[in-house]
Amino acid sequence: MIERLSNYVAGQWQAGTGAGTPLVDPVLGNELVRVDATGLDLAAAFAYAREQGGKALRALSYRQRAAILADVVKVLQANRDAYEEIATANSGTVKNDSAVDIDGGVYTLSTYARLGVGLGDRRFLIDGEPASLGKEALFQSQHVMVPTRGLALFINAFNFPSWGLWEKAAPALLSGVPVVIKPATATAWLTQRMVKDVVDSGLLPPGALSVVCGSSAGLLDALEPFDVLSFTGSAETAQLIRSHAAVAQRSVRVNIEADSLNSALLLEGAVAGDAAFELLVKEVAREMTQKSGQKCTAIRRVFVPEALYGAVAEAISARLGKTSVGNPRNESVRMGALVNRAQLDAVRAGLATLLSQAEALHDGAKHALVDADPAVACCVGPTLLGTRAADAADRVHDTEVFGPVATLMPYRDAGHALALIQRGQGSLAVSIYGSDAAALGATALELAAGHGRVHVVSPDVAAMHTGHGNVMPQSLHGGPGRAGGGEELGGARALNFYHRRAAIQASTSVLSPMVG
Ligand code: NAP
Repeated sequence: MIERLSNYVAGQWQAGTGAGTPLVDPVLGNELVRVDATGLDLAAAFAYAREQGGKALRALSYRQRAAILADVVKVLQANRDAYEEIATANSGTVKNDSAVDIDGGVYTLSTYARLGVGLGDRRFLIDGEPASLGKEALFQSQHVMVPTRGLALFINAFNFPSWGLWEKAAPALLSGVPVVIKPATATAWLTQRMVKDVVDSGLLPPGALSVVCGSSAGLLDALEPFDVLSFTGSAETAQLIRSHAAVAQRSVRVNIEADSLNSALLLEGAVAGDAAFELLVKEVAREMTQKSGQKCTAIRRVFVPEALYGAVAEAISARLGKTSVGNPRNESVRMGALVNRAQLDAVRAGLATLLSQAEALHDGAKHALVDADPAVACCVGPTLLGTRAADAADRVHDTEVFGPVATLMPYRDAGHALALIQRGQGSLAVSIYGSDAAALGATALELAAGHGRVHVVSPDVAAMHTGHGNVMPQSLHGGPGRAGGGEELGGARALNFYHRRAAIQASTSVLSPMVG
């Protein structure tokens, strides 16, 4: 008997009334569980979250909410083994890749728990200094940030069922805003299980955390003006969301994290085999294979000085050749599966598109699968593509293949490299490799306008840099243009999205005690 996962809304576990959608093991091909959100009264569910959850959360101070988050961390840590099992079965990821999602989520949550302690016993945030509005200092304007009186709806992508939940829920709950999470159907199990453990713990007030597993139908219709919506997923779905009446007419605040053609850049001056060269090679190979390249931040385009094209191609290919691909339950396997057959098909189609303008320098199709049936398993080896015609290869700058695929390209000079990177139309992350601190700093500033995060790797930080694709809660996540234009994390900055800013104009006799 296949388990049907329940939804948690309006303070109750509720099963859908439809047949449900099966979640499948991408390596073995068997059905695991079913999800179904048919027939839920979403208007009532959202009203409960706003009224019960929001009110109870806002009654607490930042410090009290932070203490709850710290306890939630303990609940998640206590159940970690179950999460790893679910990730292996449903996402087909090896232990290290499951950890990126599971532990990354828990670390982000614990970071906000610590940050919240510093916000103290307040129930609102002060924004800036008071400003006199006239000649007399008596009448002033003070900006404040108060938690929004709506809920936060999260519509997430399939690739981070744990991290995607907690990187959004941590700042929302800390802000005093109730959360409704709608995970991507393909991997909803892990999100649902984590929510279940937290709900069962009784740590959060009723209505503070809800989960809807299954179709997104009706979710946006149920949003009201003070709600906020944070979406992570493809550019196509993002476009639908932006044009929905909730956003276009009811002004629901929306944050979009979409796809991205992230780059890695080896600066001029590097020579084959030197420290910067080796750091780039290692990072590109890691980014291509971690989570089978299913990371929004993964390196998709690699730019190197013309003279080093051949050497870099060889060095990355040599690393990729050592990557064993297949069943994540086999200890010798380093890279597991794509999430499902649809993704496998999409990766193959994307590769075919890129191969019309690039050649395979390392062909992933030649990797024999370990412990996995190629007719069933959604596994694919890593493919490094390359083209010397970087200017003409428009598809390479605009097709995101969401799998273990990257394209190597040579550049003539620094200006050419920057222009090629810019053709990604705005990305989440770029990494720069070199040994000249001044050149690294200048290039970072040049690239900052087009990227949410610029990751600079010089030999002195070789052993301690956090990785091109790793999203650290201390740093901004999001990118301009094609990447969706969103902003998440970045420490306390994340709280802005869940607060409303207002200017209070009043006598200092009113403002002074209020501000404290
Ligand atoms: P997707 O197909 O756009 O789905 C994302 C989410 O939107 C899922 O929960 C999906 O639900 C839901 N959805 C689908 N149609 C919808 C609609 N009409 N209205 C409202 N919600 C709808 O994306 P994906 O395939 O899961 O994720 C892969 C993409 O996400 C890649 O392009 C990747 O770059 C991007 N991504 C970006 C980030 C980032 O932080 N920038 C992070 C991870 C992934 P169902 O699953 O039920 O269809």
